[in-house]
Amino acid sequence: MSVSGKPPYDPGNIFARILRGEIPCKKVSEDEHALAFHDIAPQAPVHVLVIPKGPYVSAADFHAEAPAEAITGFWRAVGRIARELGLEEHGYRLLSNMGEYAGQEVGHFHVHLFGGRRLGRMVPQPRE
Ligand code: 5GP
Repeated sequence: MSVSGKPPYDPGNIFARILRGEIPCKKVSEDEHALAFHDIAPQAPVHVLVIPKGPYVSAADFHAEAPAEAITGFWRAVGRIARELGLEEHGYRLLSNMGEYAGQEVGHFHVHLFGGRRLGRMVPQPRE
């Protein structure tokens, strides 16, 4: 079930619950701006989700509303985590779904970090 990617933010979403420690995650890294953890259903040898600590529904909401320091801190964390996972040598992909057409499922902004193999086409083509 997709979400719209637009506010209001639902504090009951699954990533908000992970941030509050109410449900567990396989943590990769945490600092003041970002939490990174392994996706529960990985689609590549490395599939990590990176989320900001603030209550933003999507990429649209985060980039419009977050303070500049939070945005800079978040993206620096994404780069650092990719580097620490050893993904820079062969490369990696960042992806963020916003809203229905992208199939966003969780209403807390997140970036998928994929790596560990050749990742194929950027956007799968619809079947004829
Ligand atoms: P979206 O479609 O919103 O961009 O991606 C949501 C991602 O969250 C999916 O890749 C899904 O596998 C992952 N996910 C959903 N629930 C959980 C959970 O409880 N724990 C973890 N680690 N990942 C989750």
